[in-house]
Amino acid sequence: MKNAHATTMMVLIFLVISCAQASDAGKKEGRLQVVKKSECPLLHTDKEDGTGYVEMPREEWKEILDPETFRVTRKKGTEPAFSGQYDKFHESGIYICANCGNDLYASETKFDSRTGWPSFYEPMAPENIKEKLDIGLGGIRTEILCARCGAHLGHVFKDGPKPTGLRYCMNSVSLKFCPKNGSSD
Ligand SMILES: [Zn+2]
Repeated sequence: MKNAHATTMMVLIFLVISCAQASDAGKKEGRLQVVKKSECPLLHTDKEDGTGYVEMPREEWKEILDPETFRVTRKKGTEPAFSGQYDKFHESGIYICANCGNDLYASETKFDSRTGWPSFYEPMAPENIKEKLDIGLGGIRTEILCARCGAHLGHVFKDGPKPTGLRYCMNSVSLKFCPKNGSSD
């Protein structure tokens, strides 16, 4: 009996160690697991660093982006309210990152927030965006960034509609709309 007990303990210890190692390996390998469902072409760059990220110096972004997109996405700017092309836009499709093409929001989750900025109640995949605490002139807010390239997209607020109660308040220039089913429709 004593031996059986010892064996059980050994097996348990082994399992615990294996699990710990597996989760460590997972952290190291999968730095980013972006869910890409669309056939949308990458807009400006597909320069990845081998782990799913797009990392480029700001000067390089400046060369390939138009000035307003650069100001908003790479310098954390905000487009004027009611000025963006997707504020009053209700086509069916998906919105990708205007910098790197990462899938961000589906039109089904878009709603009219009457704020002057395109608003969504949830991202296509939580891992496709990144949240960051933003303490500045606008108070304490939660900034939303593209998880793939770090582009500034907008902010998230807790006054959205059901089912999430969240309002992802985005800049139109940070997004690029792709019609449903890409070119086949
Ligand atoms: Zn991006």
